[in-house]
Amino acid sequence: MGECTHNCSTCSSSDCKDRKNDLLAPMNSESNIKKVYAVVSGKGGVGKSMVTSLLAVAESRLGKKVAVLDADITGPSIPKAFGITELATTSDNLINPIVTSTGIKLMSMNCLLEDATGPVIWRGPVIAGAIKQFWTDVRWGDVDTMFVDCPPGTGDVPLTVFQSFPIAGIVIVTTPQDLVSMIVEKAVKMAEMMNVPIIALVENMSYMLCPDCGKKLYPFGESDLETLAKKHNIKNTFRLPIDAILRQHVDTGLIEFYKGIKADDIVKILN
Ligand code: ADP
Repeated sequence: MGECTHNCSTCSSSDCKDRKNDLLAPMNSESNIKKVYAVVSGKGGVGKSMVTSLLAVAESRLGKKVAVLDADITGPSIPKAFGITELATTSDNLINPIVTSTGIKLMSMNCLLEDATGPVIWRGPVIAGAIKQFWTDVRWGDVDTMFVDCPPGTGDVPLTVFQSFPIAGIVIVTTPQDLVSMIVEKAVKMAEMMNVPIIALVENMSYMLCPDCGKKLYPFGESDLETLAKKHNIKNTFRLPIDAILRQHVDTGLIEFYKGIKADDIVKILN
């Protein structure tokens, strides 16, 4: 890196701390968010939103003030997991987040759409703008930990989230089948290239317990999560089982009342 000219618009450095700060979206005066973690995945359907929800619930049960920013504008799943159907209101030019039954604050595209099944057919820059507004124009209040549920892949939205929000780290969610492909590694490499710390690699739907004998079964095969973690210097790996009761809770909006698989070990490393 050459000598700093303090002119970011003409500087090509990618590892300058000041430049990184220059791209951050400003927080409004009615929000004070202490730590932000993004939850990402290589591809869709691996349980990323479920993991985001479990993390938020586990962190909230520790007595923390928790918020979830659903950055999956075109496929928002967070309100459904928390049973939210109401629309967000606005006051004094800011949007009020929805508050769930246990006090978690949420903002999602589906909290702004009259018809939750209506598609959002926007081009990338418009979507990126909406995500920044979820940060700048929502009255978040005091938040200890915010989880950002990113859409799958390494496109525009994770890029916007990594650049515009002060991300403390990311949690990458994968499944045994996803792990054998190179897709999850793309997400890992994107985080590395953008200097975003990878806090944990979570393999969801890793195994299931036989309902008769309790033996671990591997319907998608046994994966080698640790090899990928070691290769990329990721210290923490977790495996979550397939659980029909979890699915039922997520899909009926009762994630806050689910008492099975816990994300306590994962949130422990965030604190
Ligand atoms: P993504 O956000 O990666 O697209 P979701 O979190 O929406 O994935 O999960 C996709 C579906 O899989 C949902 O119906 C969810 O309830 C279910 N699911 C996710 N993880 C599990 C699990 N460990 N056991 C059972 N069902 C799961």
